[in-house]
Amino acid sequence: MVVGAGMAGVAAAHELAVGRGMRDVVLIDERAPLTLTSDKSSECYRNWWPGPDATMLRYMTRSIDLLEEMVALPGMTSKLIMDAHLAAFAIGHGLTLCSSDRDFARFPKLRWFNPLAV
Ligand SMILES: Cc1cc2nc3c(=O)[nH]c(=O)nc-3n(C[C@H](O)[C@H](O)[C@H](O)COP(=O)(O)OP(=O)(O)OC[C@H]3O[C@@H](n4cnc5c(N)ncnc54)[C@H](O)[C@@H]3O)c2cc1C
Repeated sequence: MVVGAGMAGVAAAHELAVGRGMRDVVLIDERAPLTLTSDKSSECYRNWWPGPDATMLRYMTRSIDLLEEMVALPGMTSKLIMDAHLAAFAIGHGLTLCSSDRDFARFPKLRWFNPLAV
């Protein structure tokens, strides 16, 4: 039994039911799922950084555009969102991402280097 259907509880129940194949998982909450604090978060993903000038606004807009582009790629799953986040950061800064994680190969705009492949 998982008590609380916020993102932590939903993630725990998902892991038990889907990840570990448990068939009798129960998730209880007095409220609708994700309605207490979990649906209030992710403001960091939106462009709410006014700053002294337009620099942060431009930076966030570009980062969000890059991330959304990658999230729309075929085969993307929630497990790859952090990879997409790192890829967007590298692309946005003109960097080469150095990792042995081959999942980075799926991002066409990313300059990616696998140090174990040389
Ligand atoms: C305005 C706002 C902005 C935020 N922005 C960000 C952000 O930009 N980035 C970030 O990382 N985080 C952010 N957060 C924090 C983030 O939202 C929370 O840390 C996260 O949602 C907590 O998830 P949770 O599952 O632990 O708890 P909750 O989502 O609060 O879920 C707990 C659940 O447990 C239930 N519950 C409690 N007691 C019982 C009980 N006795 N029996 C049954 N059910 C019970 C509640 O009804 C609720 O549904 C923000 C939070 C707020 C409020």
